[in-house]
Amino acid sequence: MVGPVHTAQRAPAGALSSPADAPNAPAGAQLILTVTRACNLRCAYCPTAKDGWPSLTVDDARRAVALFAERYGGGDIKLFGGEPLLVPEVVRAAMDEARARPEIRRVYLSTNGLGLDADWIAYVRGHEKAILTLSLDGRPEDHRALRRALPGVADSYAHVVSLLPELTRLPRLVVTQTIAPKTAARAADNFRHLRELGFWRFNFLPGYYVPWRDEQLTALSESFVAIANDIRNSWERGERLYVRNLFTRAPTPFFNTGLVVDADRTIHPSNVGLSGSLEELLDQTQVGTLDDPPTPEALAERAAAVNALLEARLPERVWASTMAADLALTRFCEALYPAYFAQRERRARRRTAAGGAR
Ligand code: SF4
Repeated sequence: MVGPVHTAQRAPAGALSSPADAPNAPAGAQLILTVTRACNLRCAYCPTAKDGWPSLTVDDARRAVALFAERYGGGDIKLFGGEPLLVPEVVRAAMDEARARPEIRRVYLSTNGLGLDADWIAYVRGHEKAILTLSLDGRPEDHRALRRALPGVADSYAHVVSLLPELTRLPRLVVTQTIAPKTAARAADNFRHLRELGFWRFNFLPGYYVPWRDEQLTALSESFVAIANDIRNSWERGERLYVRNLFTRAPTPFFNTGLVVDADRTIHPSNVGLSGSLEELLDQTQVGTLDDPPTPEALAERAAAVNALLEARLPERVWASTMAADLALTRFCEALYPAYFAQRERRARRRTAAGGAR
């Protein structure tokens, strides 16, 4: 699973005040570990170049976490792929190292779910810094049409559903619902299905860096309006419902910015080079290796150039589509903020009243 949680929207002052997301570390202070580019799925919208790459080793993972903590001051860690759980021992090493270091605030493990089992779920439950980000796109027919498995690989929808009792009891599980151009018109229905399964923490991800037709963009906007209505109504009824997009922001849609350690141990300020069609940018974004890491200043300087590199490289239609899909997501967030703050105040008042009644 590539980096799934990003939007170019800017969260307004105050929006980042949920305890789970309060940024103790400076903005952008994150380590992105591409532990492997290999994957057992071939999702229709996935840009990641998967073949012909090495994976990080256990030692690489520990070293990267130590480097991030000691040289960059730490912050959040995101474990991405490919599918990270194809190299479970590397993921476990990074998460154990993160747990032991006070400079590390949170560890996000993004997975397509196929590598999860009762042991992994128990490990994540017991890891106080871990947040599991699980990809599930909605009803089985849409999920299966988009998230195609390689021959001989299990059905990821059925596998996740078989683990529902354990998964829905996890306190820090976020479901990423990817919305592709083809499924944009059914996104609200797919969201309702995921809620019916028992999930309540969501991240929405429109397909980025793929062409969208005008009518598909219109369907995306309309679906976001319907999803926002559902969410507002749920909040008014006092139901718990978390929307991670309200607390995230990134300078580059979809891709992640920070200290990026790729599967071949090279270091970049962004993982844009994950994309097969952007692979040639890797030479321009590389600022070091695990053996020869850059200074924080050199990393920041290279980061500032990424959007211009992307825009120059991508076909105009794809860049315009990406910006339009991202704008739809930004508007969705903006439409939700007033209701989010209102429900937060209602909860605070209820807590105060309950405290006074004791
Ligand atoms: S799970 Fe899908 S989106 Fe994630 S890396 Fe594999 S093919 Fe790409």
